[in-house]
Amino acid sequence: MIHLSDRLMAMEESATIAMSRKSRELKAEGKDIISLSLGEPDFFTPQFIKDAAVEAMDNNFTMYTPVQGYDDLRESISKKFKRDNGLDYTKDQIVTSTGAKQSIANVVLSIINPGDEVIVPAPYWVSYLEIVKVAEGIPVVIKAGIDRDFKISGKQLEAAITPKTKMLIFSTPCNPTGSVYTKEELKELADVLKKYPQIVVISDEIYEHINFMGKHESLAQFPEVYNQVVTVNGVSKAWAMTGWRLGYIGAPKAIADACTKVQGQFTSGTCSITQKATIAAMEADPIVLKEMITAFNKRRVLVLNALNNMKGVKANVPAGAFYVFPDVSSFFGKSYNGTTVHNADDMCLYLLDEALVALVTGDAFGDQNCIRISYAASDETLIEAMKRIKTALEKLN
Ligand code: PMP
Ligand code: GLU
Repeated sequence: MIHLSDRLMAMEESATIAMSRKSRELKAEGKDIISLSLGEPDFFTPQFIKDAAVEAMDNNFTMYTPVQGYDDLRESISKKFKRDNGLDYTKDQIVTSTGAKQSIANVVLSIINPGDEVIVPAPYWVSYLEIVKVAEGIPVVIKAGIDRDFKISGKQLEAAITPKTKMLIFSTPCNPTGSVYTKEELKELADVLKKYPQIVVISDEIYEHINFMGKHESLAQFPEVYNQVVTVNGVSKAWAMTGWRLGYIGAPKAIADACTKVQGQFTSGTCSITQKATIAAMEADPIVLKEMITAFNKRRVLVLNALNNMKGVKANVPAGAFYVFPDVSSFFGKSYNGTTVHNADDMCLYLLDEALVALVTGDAFGDQNCIRISYAASDETLIEAMKRIKTALEKLN
């Protein structure tokens, strides 16, 4: 009899990954499922990045790498931070990893002691809470509703801070809401945080390039909090490199060193070929992403128009990322064919069964009224999915 650890038993399976697994299984059974569950660009990695990978292999970059990543990679990331974000991170403040997910885990494991409180604004990305729980930290969730475009205020943040608060984790642009913090909104948070220099902030900016409102703003730009902020980023989203596995941080040197120590025991440096390919991405002008961002924007409008035509659905207008997070609570308590939809979990199951569309419940992101739609899919797929969802919702009464 195998007894799994308490730590493991307390951990939830990633809802995004669970839903995409489920839709894959149903597809394999021959069901015509449309999956809008996983946050993954449907574009292929640009050719110049693949070419750099082939060149790396041909040049035998196939061995263990330094834990924090090759020097030339970290230099290229340092330049990228300066060019795109106006941030000064020397290469010894940069640690690359096997994905932003691992970068976040490294930082949390480096900072959090059992019982430390970690403030997580909801809606949050699924993995934040679980990573904090593994480190035996206590997540303190503060809510920002659809009426505030799902963004917290400085006042709210300050009210949640206690002597035990050790960390804040948030994303901008946000997964799952697509909300983007403006410079003024970040400054409001910085003004609070600077009073509590013991609080480390993980600013997850992995969707920085997928921004429809203009310039991405980084929290670390404010000198008064620069020494508290870890800027997390990666190549999965903007560069359509989800399978390559590369994330990175820019951080105060002590935190960067700590992350290197953690990673040195868990995984070592990430894939040598991926690292060399990432240099090509970091050195490229982000203007090459324009076509992809334009396509995402068109899809965003398509999905929003469709949602606005569905009675009872209240959709936010996301300014970034590739998700919409509509409120579907007006349907709670309604039934069709013997099935009653009580909450967002039920709604996702109902839409999976009745519309054959896979989405993710808002519950996994800390909001029981909403469901997440990833619109990283072709226009035709989205049109069909929206049609199916509308028909299924109209059946509920
Ligand atoms: N942060 C957010 C907000 C995400 O949506 C994702 C998506 N996977 C990650 C981090 C992790 O990205 P990666 O593929 O680099 O691990
Ligand atoms: N981050 C993506 C999502 O939210 C990919 C899945 C995951 O890493 O959890 O769907």
